[in-house]
Amino acid sequence: MWDGDGEAEFVERYHLTVALARLLRATAEHLEARQDGGRDTAANIAAACFHCNSMRHKGRPRAAPSPVQYRNRVQARIAAGKWHPAIKHLQKADQAGIVS
Ligand SMILES: [Zn+2]
Repeated sequence: MWDGDGEAEFVERYHLTVALARLLRATAEHLEARQDGGRDTAANIAAACFHCNSMRHKGRPRAAPSPVQYRNRVQARIAAGKWHPAIKHLQKADQAGIVS
């Protein structure tokens, strides 16, 4: 993830497209949504890339999986190599030795 500054440097360092880099931009994910009373406190916020944050709520804004359910789903999909569109790109770059 990256904090939103220095996009060009992030793209160059990891050999990403701008679109992939933007999916990896850091966001603040509210574990309990603000619309459900979740607060802007450290205990209720986790850093998540834009992709991971938006996928939790995609298609189910009122019935998103719990943070634990979502974590388990993401970890299972990562283990299967089927989660993030940037993973295969970064793995290829790593294997080619072009990412440090
Ligand atoms: Zn992510």
